[in-house]
This record gives sequence, C-alpha cells and structure tokens, in this order.
Amino acid sequence: MEKLIRKLRQTQELSKSEWIQLIENRTPEIAEYLFSQAREVREEHYGKDVYIRGLIEFTNYCKNDCRYCGIRKSNQNAARYRLGREDILECCKQGYELGFRTFVLQGGEDGYFTDERLSEVVVSIKEMYPDCAITLSVGEKTLESYQRFYDAGAERYLLRHETYNAEHYQKLHPSILSAENRQQCLWDLKKIGYQVGTGFMVGSPYQTAQHLAEDMLFIKKLNPQMVGIGPFIPHKDTVFANEAAGTLELTLYMLGLLRLMLPKALLPATTALGTIDLHGREKGILAGANVVMPNLSPISVREKYMLYNDKISTGDEAAENLENLKMRMKNIGYQVVVSRGDSLNKGGK
Ligand code: SAH
Repeated sequence: MEKLIRKLRQTQELSKSEWIQLIENRTPEIAEYLFSQAREVREEHYGKDVYIRGLIEFTNYCKNDCRYCGIRKSNQNAARYRLGREDILECCKQGYELGFRTFVLQGGEDGYFTDERLSEVVVSIKEMYPDCAITLSVGEKTLESYQRFYDAGAERYLLRHETYNAEHYQKLHPSILSAENRQQCLWDLKKIGYQVGTGFMVGSPYQTAQHLAEDMLFIKKLNPQMVGIGPFIPHKDTVFANEAAGTLELTLYMLGLLRLMLPKALLPATTALGTIDLHGREKGILAGANVVMPNLSPISVREKYMLYNDKISTGDEAAENLENLKMRMKNIGYQVVVSRGDSLNKGGK
C-alpha cells in the first residue's frame, strides 16, 4: 500500500483498480502514512496557511428532491426562508469586518432568484467589496445563466458532482436529475472561466469503493480548483433517514488521497466533517485540507438550512466565533489568513 501511495505522490494518478485497492485495503497505519505525505505536499504549496470563506446560506427553497437532502422540495417540515439583497449585503459587511475576503452564496434551487435577481446581488457585493471573491453554489443552470453570473462578477462556482457513477447517482436523486447533466454543468462552468469546485459525499447510501474510484478518476480529469467532500449524514425527514452516516475515518482518508492527486487544489474541511466529530475540522486539516468555511448566515435562519441531522452552525464554525477557529488552527500548527485564497491550481479549460 505504501508503494501505491508513493506512486500517487510521484505521478498524481492511479488506475481504477489501483484506486480500489488503496481504498479497500486501508489500515490505520496506512492512513497515518498517507496523511504525513499529504501534509508535506500541502505545505510545499500552501505552507501552514488556512484560507477561510464566509458561507451565506441565502435560501432553503428548492425545486429539487434529492433523496438525501433535508431541504428537498417534498420535506413539508422544513421552515422555508430566503434572504433579500440587503440581508445578504449585511452578512458581507459583518464578514468583511471579521476578515473574510471570499463570500460563498449557497442555496437551494430557488425560482425566486431569477438570473436577474441573483446577478444584481452579485453586482452589489462586488461594488461594495471589490477586493473580495464571490463564489456561487446554486445548483444546475444553463450555460447562459452561468455566463450571466460570471459577467456580473462571480468568479467561482461550487457544484459537487455528488457521485460520478450514473446508476449510483440515480439511487440518490429523482429520475429527472442525471449524473450526465450535473457533470455537463461542471464542464460548462470551466469553459466560461470559473474557478470550479466539485466534490462528493463519503458513505452515501449504496456507495462502493468502485464508485469512489470513479469519483477520483473524474476529478482528475476535470482538474478543478477545489474539491469539497464530507460524510453523508442522514436527515430525519428524508428517504434515507435510517441509513448509516459516512465515517470520519473514510472521509479523512479520501481527503489525503485528494491532496496527493491534486497537490495544488483547495480542499475544505467541511461542516459535515465538523458535525460528525468534535475535532473534525482539525483532523481534516491534518489530513491535507487547507480551507474552512465558517457560517456567515444570520443566526435567525441558520437552523433552517438543515441539510442533515444536527448540522452545526453556532459553535466554532460560526463566523462570529472566528477567534476560536483561529485558536484551534494555531493549536495544530496552522494559521488562518486574511486573503482571497485563490487556488494555485490554474486548472486550464
Ligand atoms: N443546491 C446547491 C447546494 C446544495 S447543498 C447544489 O445543488 O449544489 C451543498 C451540498 O451539501 C450538496 O452538494 C451535498 O453534497 C451536501 N449534502 C446535502 N445533503 C447532505 C446530507 N444529508 N449529508 C451530507 N451532505 C449533504
């Protein structure tokens, strides 16, 4: 196994069967070896810096019905909300004062936010904070819509492919959604010139090592600037309420592998990782991650953006508790920096 990890570090790629082998035969010792390699690679490029992004969850209305997601359309128990432009600008103001230079606007696929409305929000943020990067994460749109947001000033887009395998994708989503379209969106975003983030859930229902291997091959090919992964966590009002959650252990392992495969990519230690383990964020950083995305949404709506059970939102992952996060990072030898935190992976189109 160590030999495969060395090969991965040297060549930054593996065959499908090698990926499967590396995933299926992992042990705690192999994982430790992987993490030490991943930290070395991360430090070669990013030193000990940890980039932060202010996450603004601006709407939980969604027209989609993804089987795993707590804000799926058919969840009648979800208390719906959306933030207006002024609310969003207020979040940015607070975030800017705290030292955030990237704002991530994430939400469900909410018809209220037409291309025009969302573009206006982007333009307003850009006007007030020209030194900040704006990231959008609002799901699948047409190339034309993506182009409009880009022209308005959004430079980055997060859209996890969720799972590459089409059959697996179908088990997680309603039939009107497809892996193919999701992936096409990512290629469209790249073509326009966005810095793109993709990713997948670890331990989602029916996931196998083969699926994960396919995810790695796809990500290698896409060559995104960022890859966000987190454990699947069940939500009580979804089809998968009684499914097992993904594990911290496998998520960290996949993070380490991603760092070796894409040395210069941005890898967030995600909220889901922080939710399944009290020190998930720190463990993620020590496995090769280099980004954290504290929550900047108004406190009054945070509980409503409940993608999965017990999603954390007011502890050290909250923007207002940034000092605690800084301390946590310092305690493990890393430092939070005030910066746009652009990816060193230029990606190419
Ligand atoms: N509507 C946007 C944002 C989706 S929410 C989009 O389509 O991209 C952001 C991410 O949360 C999703 O991409 C998914 O990977 C993750 N997520 C949703 N439900 C989850 C769950 N139950 N457990 C873990 N992660 C989940």
